Amino acid sequence: MSKIKIAKCRICNANDVEYITKPSFSCNECLPYWNRADSIWSNKRRADVFFIHRVHFARHIKELYDKDKTCKYSGFMLYKLNIDGTLPIEQWIYDLFKFSVERYDSDKPYVPGNTILCANVFNLMKNNTEKDNFIRLVINLLEHQYSVGDENTKYRIEAFSEKVIQLKEEKRGKLTEAEMEKLITDNLPDE
Ligand SMILES: [Zn+2]
Repeated sequence: MSKIKIAKCRICNANDVEYITKPSFSCNECLPYWNRADSIWSNKRRADVFFIHRVHFARHIKELYDKDKTCKYSGFMLYKLNIDGTLPIEQWIYDLFKFSVERYDSDKPYVPGNTILCANVFNLMKNNTEKDNFIRLVINLLEHQYSVGDENTKYRIEAFSEKVIQLKEEKRGKLTEAEMEKLITDNLPDE
């Protein structure tokens, strides 16, 4: 029988990695970071990754996740697989909100400072075919809000979409958060 040896995980440098001939770089806990780093690193069509080794890239991803488990764009909570490889939440929610490693400025490479974590759904939005699915999801969400929501919710959705449609096309995509908030609050029914 082959003897099982033990090495330290190269990413967290804390957990043990059991091996027989050659240790893997990552423990089970760090595997999601390692997999993301490795797939970006190996994808030739992707932007440059300015880290010395895939291990350093994975370490940086772990650092980012340990520091802040929310989406940089939306503030949504980000999910990662459990240590035993099982899902932390229902599959469809996981698919939308699993952490995705992105560049803040897409003209710049993956470097510390330009590497961010966001919900996978924003990745999907970048791709045209999948964008349709995303829009469908949003429509489903609004429809559901409509069917179960109170009159106030219904009124908000109608008033907001009406106002947005009235806006000139060039203005629509450039609404700031404050302007959107104003559109919503200005159209609330009187208490
Ligand atoms: Zn580890």
